[in-house]
Amino acid sequence: ELAGRVALVTGSTDGIGLAVAHALAAQGCAVVLNGFGEPQAIASLCEELAGTHGVVVEHAGADLMLEEQASGLVPQVLARFGRLDILVNNAGTQHKGPIEEHPSQRWREVFALNLDAAFHTIRTALPSMRGAGWGRVVNIASVYGLAGGVDRSSYVASKHALVGLTKAVALETAATPITCNAVCPGDVSTRIFYRNAKLLAEREQITRAEAQRRIAATNMPSGRVVSPEQVAALVAFLCTEAAGEIRGAALPVDGAWLAR
Ligand code: NAD
Repeated sequence: ELAGRVALVTGSTDGIGLAVAHALAAQGCAVVLNGFGEPQAIASLCEELAGTHGVVVEHAGADLMLEEQASGLVPQVLARFGRLDILVNNAGTQHKGPIEEHPSQRWREVFALNLDAAFHTIRTALPSMRGAGWGRVVNIASVYGLAGGVDRSSYVASKHALVGLTKAVALETAATPITCNAVCPGDVSTRIFYRNAKLLAEREQITRAEAQRRIAATNMPSGRVVSPEQVAALVAFLCTEAAGEIRGAALPVDGAWLAR
């Protein structure tokens, strides 16, 4: 369905972003990866993605915490491909701890990556999407973009702001074929989740499966963690024609976390 289109997925050398890159490439989309990693590991990621799905895959290494690089990323993609149809703002970070102990510098960094980077990629991508008469912007927020949480003030505030930005952009593009939505995952089984489960299993002398279930059940009534592929599938759906009138939504993928 997405053959001939070009997608940029920020923070996609690992985790949810990488799963999104796979899901879009599987629909025939050329993909620009972004994120950190060993040059060789990134090169083989690109090769694997391209080989599996028969699409062009490249990597653009911008550090999106830095305004200059965040502003330069989309122009870089446009210079290379001449178009950008799908923008997925996925790169994100968090700082844990009570607000009284939150370093100001970390606060600025969390906002720089979780919010400002999306502002810069969106503002630089929209002119070309408007010109092409089609576009999809998907912002990866979090359940913490819709509900509070303890000891993660900058994360909660920046993800709420990202949901707000999503609504604002959706309204500015409402009369066009460009849509902008947010996806709000609960706990996702990325590398950190498995590492935490392994540590818990060792500490409590339980199986890894039981440790995973316990961690998932902390926040999610389902008792199951969300997979990166389940988040990616929703992102890919938002990029279809069928999703063309889903605008300004913040869609949870959260095992009923927010239903309580
Ligand atoms: P991850 O840590 O597995 O991967 C993060 C990716 O972002 C990596 O490719 C990394 O290289 C890249 N990255 C980090 N800093 C960057 C920077 N300054 N510039 C460019 N790229 C950078 O992350 P994840 O857990 O897959 O999370 C992805 C997004 O999903 C984040 O926005 C996160 O807040 C959100 N999210 C994650 C979960 C979860 O449980 N993992 C839940 C809800 C929301």
